[in-house]
Amino acid sequence: MKNTDIQIITSIKQLLTEKKINIVIVPHEHPDGDAIGSAIGLSEVLYGFGHQVQIISPSDYPDFIKWFSSKIEITVYSDKKKRAKAIIDQSDVLICVDYNEASRAGKLEKVILEYKNPKILIDHHPYPTDFCDFMVSETHYSSTAELIFDVVNLTGLEKYLNKNAAEALYTGILTDTGSFNHNTSDPNTFKVVSELMRFGIDTKKIHSEVYLNFSESRMKLLGYCLNQKMVVFPELRTAMISISKKEQEDFNFKTGDTEGFVNFPLSINNIVFSAIFIEKEDIIKASFRSKGDFPVNQFSRSHFNGGGHINAAGGETKLPLEETIKKFTQLLPDYKRQLLETII
Ligand code: 5GP
Ligand code: MN
Repeated sequence: MKNTDIQIITSIKQLLTEKKINIVIVPHEHPDGDAIGSAIGLSEVLYGFGHQVQIISPSDYPDFIKWFSSKIEITVYSDKKKRAKAIIDQSDVLICVDYNEASRAGKLEKVILEYKNPKILIDHHPYPTDFCDFMVSETHYSSTAELIFDVVNLTGLEKYLNKNAAEALYTGILTDTGSFNHNTSDPNTFKVVSELMRFGIDTKKIHSEVYLNFSESRMKLLGYCLNQKMVVFPELRTAMISISKKEQEDFNFKTGDTEGFVNFPLSINNIVFSAIFIEKEDIIKASFRSKGDFPVNQFSRSHFNGGGHINAAGGETKLPLEETIKKFTQLLPDYKRQLLETII
């Protein structure tokens, strides 16, 4: 660990091992494999120690991360506001995983900011904001799941790691590295994976649950997006997809159905920058991906109120879909030089 002071780890150790308490873990809104995997992995360990542990997800999450064997309850705040709020109110410690600004907790932002008891953050995104009492922010980690494994070891909780935790943490690493394709230059990632393998996890089953799990309509929506909705700007090395609410309804959209779609255009040779705009209830959700050193997190922060990693970022806008597309296409020429100079 490069950034975290040993005193912070000591304080976290005290909080989590001195006595049995009520702990609540909150992943980010629209949680992905790393957010849910980290939350479940950590809860399994804390539960093993003897704490009461609950996970509160700000919003629903996709089926491909709903198969974990863990018995730890996940309450979705947007579905059960009162119950979720009561669980948070009764907790002694709150742990934020896989985000570094309170707004990423969506509708739970205010609840988290006003939380009175100790708050811990465990995250790997760049540009952290200081909204927790104990911040473990390590941006060189592949995933929060990898970082959780190290925090568990540093706080002396490693004897409570079990197969359920290992499966969940492995899933976080798997999904955040695109199946070990990116953010894997640090040997620690593979060291952690090898330690997780010792628990006898079934990596083939996990791959199948996460990636070979499309519904027919999701697969058809992907085909439609690539065939009908993808616009390629070869002279700008960019591709863009947009999906309206109506189009989502036409394909029986379920939470998570568009997850990963933004990656496909990067398979086109010479494409450096891929964007997807998805029309939601009251906002347009944007996802950006890139190759080389084209920093989509900076692009997202500058124009779409977002952030993330250099090659994978997200954001949102209140503009209507058509105007969002217009804004994006009008912005692109400003980045022409940077896009053309990107080495892939
Ligand atoms: P995705 O495009 O898969 O939703 O997210 C890609 C990365 O960007 C993830 O690391 C995610 O945490 C981050 N991200 C996604 N949406 C937002 C956003 O609205 N704000 C910020 N700051 N980060 C985001
Ligand atoms: Mn992550």
